[in-house]
Amino acid sequence: PTTTSPARTGSVVEFAGVVKRFGTHLALSEFALTLHAGELVALLGPSGSGKTTALRVLAGLESTDGGRILINGDDVSGVPTSRRDMGMVFQSYSLFPHLSAGENVEFGLRMRRVPAAERRSRAAEALDLVGLDTHYDRFAHQLSGGQQQRVALARALVTRPRVLLLDEPLSALDAKVRVSLREQIRRIQTELGITTLFVTHDQDEALAVADRVAVMQGGRIEQVGTPEELYTRPATPFIADFVGLSNRLPGLVRHGFAEVHGVTLPLVDPSQPDGPVRVFVRPEDLTLGTIDDQPGTGLPGTVLLSSFLGSLRRTSVRLDVGGTVVLQHDVRLHPTVGESVLVRFSGAPVPVEAHIPVEAQTPS
Ligand code: ATP
Repeated sequence: PTTTSPARTGSVVEFAGVVKRFGTHLALSEFALTLHAGELVALLGPSGSGKTTALRVLAGLESTDGGRILINGDDVSGVPTSRRDMGMVFQSYSLFPHLSAGENVEFGLRMRRVPAAERRSRAAEALDLVGLDTHYDRFAHQLSGGQQQRVALARALVTRPRVLLLDEPLSALDAKVRVSLREQIRRIQTELGITTLFVTHDQDEALAVADRVAVMQGGRIEQVGTPEELYTRPATPFIADFVGLSNRLPGLVRHGFAEVHGVTLPLVDPSQPDGPVRVFVRPEDLTLGTIDDQPGTGLPGTVLLSSFLGSLRRTSVRLDVGGTVVLQHDVRLHPTVGESVLVRFSGAPVPVEAHIPVEAQTPS
């Protein structure tokens, strides 16, 4: 076997009702999540939702107050970090500054008393995997941030861990490096087939890199699914709001459809009970029409702002009925500020917010 291919690929990791308290604060509340063999799961959520805590209890860096953590069916709750067989990369590069890149990568092998010659060749191979085979003798201060994180990744993988844990590994890097490194991580992870938990608060990163994304709120999973599932079928208003941009419009559910100011829209969940709701509409599910062409088929409004974003254009429209919506559309359309337009719906099914109490409804 090659040096960096994990001895046991594709471990299954299961959090089963894990509870973690810090004093009176419940950081993990019956937290349940399964990572399938060889899968990359991104743990996404707002600050304080418990992402890092979940990663740390899996690593054994925090104790738990309930529930179980299973790796390939074995409860590892009592097992110390050093024997859980995890590779870890954190936000800060955390390389030893007085060691070369190669020596940093060798470190875990040294702890495991691997003989020097084998250490050297395995470290070189791990550095090769991250594209830094020519940087063995460089010190941390001679490496860019992105290179340091690649060394950290090589160091995490060289011991052939069962599971790879990444805690915001790209957050300290600038935008371009971040994208290229996340693609590299994904390629290596797929190549090795190593089960990976990737903690991030960046939804673009989570959607781009993961097989499945688990969105956390308040110490538990709110929804877990493929990036496409989360984006097109958000289970809750929180998900619709947190993953991607959403417009919110007041609507009325009737017989499995939502009516928004006289326009009828299909629902993601047609079993919704009748009543007033807020409807979530993606910017790309709105199109621009002209007032004259399609009377009665959309919502009239006035263009507030239109920004060129390279591959698309983003336009804000103030609706005559009140409120503002954002649209994303073809760059060849050039709406001008102050122009009267008709905002139309593409017909994509929409999720809705739980029924709005009568007193909170805005008159239209
Ligand atoms: P962030 O993106 O800001 O890192 P997170 O989702 O990773 O957030 P955690 O770091 O897991 O969240 O923290 C979850 C909650 O637990 C927070 O309210 C945090 O303040 C609290 N917490 C985390 N670690 C400790 C600790 N060692 N002592 C006390 N409270 C803690």
